[in-house]
Amino acid sequence: MSDTVLFWFKRDLRVQDNPALALAAKRGQPLLPLYIVEPELWAQSDASARQWRFVSESLADLQIQLAGLGAPMLLRVGEAVGVLSNLRRIYGVTEIVSHEETGNAWSFKRDRTVAGWARGAGVRWTEVPQMGVQRRLASRDGWAAARDKVLRTPALPAPKGLNGIAADSDQLPDARALGLGFDPCPERQRGGRAEALSLLGGFLTVRGRDYRRAMSSPVEGETACSRLSPHLAFGTLSVREAAQAGRARKAETTNTRDGWAASMKSFESRLAWRDHFMQKLEDEPALESRCLHPDYEGLRPRVPDATRLEAWSAGETGLPFVDACMRYLIHTGWLNFRMRSMLVAVASYHLWLDWRATGPVLARRFTDYEPGIHWSQMQMQSGTTGMNTVRIYNPVKQGHDQDPTGAFTRRWVPELADVPDALLQEPWLWEGADRVLGGRYPAPIVDVKAAAAAARDRVWAVRRQPGFAETAAKVIDKHASRKDRAGRFVNDRVPRRKSGDGRQMSLDL
Ligand SMILES: Cc1cc2nc3c(=O)[nH]c(=O)nc-3n(C[C@H](O)[C@H](O)[C@H](O)COP(=O)(O)OP(=O)(O)OC[C@H]3O[C@@H](n4cnc5c(N)ncnc54)[C@H](O)[C@@H]3O)c2cc1C
Repeated sequence: MSDTVLFWFKRDLRVQDNPALALAAKRGQPLLPLYIVEPELWAQSDASARQWRFVSESLADLQIQLAGLGAPMLLRVGEAVGVLSNLRRIYGVTEIVSHEETGNAWSFKRDRTVAGWARGAGVRWTEVPQMGVQRRLASRDGWAAARDKVLRTPALPAPKGLNGIAADSDQLPDARALGLGFDPCPERQRGGRAEALSLLGGFLTVRGRDYRRAMSSPVEGETACSRLSPHLAFGTLSVREAAQAGRARKAETTNTRDGWAASMKSFESRLAWRDHFMQKLEDEPALESRCLHPDYEGLRPRVPDATRLEAWSAGETGLPFVDACMRYLIHTGWLNFRMRSMLVAVASYHLWLDWRATGPVLARRFTDYEPGIHWSQMQMQSGTTGMNTVRIYNPVKQGHDQDPTGAFTRRWVPELADVPDALLQEPWLWEGADRVLGGRYPAPIVDVKAAAAAARDRVWAVRRQPGFAETAAKVIDKHASRKDRAGRFVNDRVPRRKSGDGRQMSLDL
């Protein structure tokens, strides 16, 4: 067999609206769809069993769909270059087609190695842009318009049939075989295309009406948010399919005044944020490991306080709403945006932990881990970008605002059953604290107000350094979204003054 085109599935586990697969099918040559289970990828500190289980369910579903199209998927466990060179020999592969992956540092390095091997072996590797993210972007000017153009192009149907070849597949390994640690997540979201479509349908017909109003509440957000994130992260649904469905729903509901149109507008903008944040990692892969604004290097100790890190990771800080959110995340693999921001703010400001220590903990717990969003957000919520408002959330106030009845906090921190409602978010003020809680629930790990004020002073000290604003301006030029036609900044809260966000600080007292 010769002139085989190998299609390498990565984070695009679907046959519908998959431009790279459509291109591979158009070649008209024998097609070998492949997924490589790379043990080294799953051994990275950001990978977890919950993510792998979601991926393996999606792969099992994809195998069925591909078989129906006449091109059964080949599954190989191993290291990419070894697998690809072996398949090249057996099947006469002359071209590899895949999407452009915006992954973590490990996958970035792997792709460079594969590219080098392909060049040396005379195999053409065609990488097709994924939707809104643009490779080798020279400037952010015009980025949003180019992204919108791609998102408005009609989504592609699944290929009608594929000229597949029969190949012997490995079995899908389980999480233990990949060396992934114990990771119970009883309410984890399920993988697969049917799950993605069912979520999208439910969101657009019932759940999404209150999206704008309810998304920030951990209680209502569970149903009011789309919950599409793991599907978008691993590609069982394309961002274009989601955006076009949302836009169609917005058009249908424009005159109804019942919340739908506003909610669909917010949904559309969140999908744009997704591409916007992923573009940052695409443009600067080092942002996974280095502060975007270099003056923030050294702000927090690189070796974290182990007791604080452990308490925060386990949901044992003694700050009820923080612990409730962390425990909920451990149990479900998901958390809404506001609460993710708060968890990071508390870790980075109140507990003074470096984002490179806390980021992998959260990444492993997110079934929807998407490196481009995750690391950009970790830095943004830790105040190390130099281009965003520094937001120090007060976890007590957030508890009152987002969980006014206390039901969420009580469910996830049952140790607080006896604490009166009025003191639920500050049980240390309750007269029974020592007697009833002693030994059952920890005292607060920090004094919330004092810790926030100390953090603010330390961040200010960096901002006052000479040259800070000039460097911030460069970061803004490279990464900030530009004004839209109405003159509003989109995505980043970029300050209007030239000097970067050197004056912007929000303390949530
Ligand atoms: C520290 C931190 C880490 C995060 N890590 C991830 C991550 O690894 N993977 C991930 O998908 N999201 C991440 N987010 C963004 C956001 O919290 C989730 O996308 C959202 O909660 C997922 O739920 P949903 O699908 O119901 O979102 P919806 O509110 O329904 O939004 C629809 C989609 O828009 C995108 N989106 C929504 N909010 C954001 C945002 N603030 N920034 C970028 N894209 C957004 C997501 O793809 C999401 O699925 C992170 C946020 C923070 C603060």
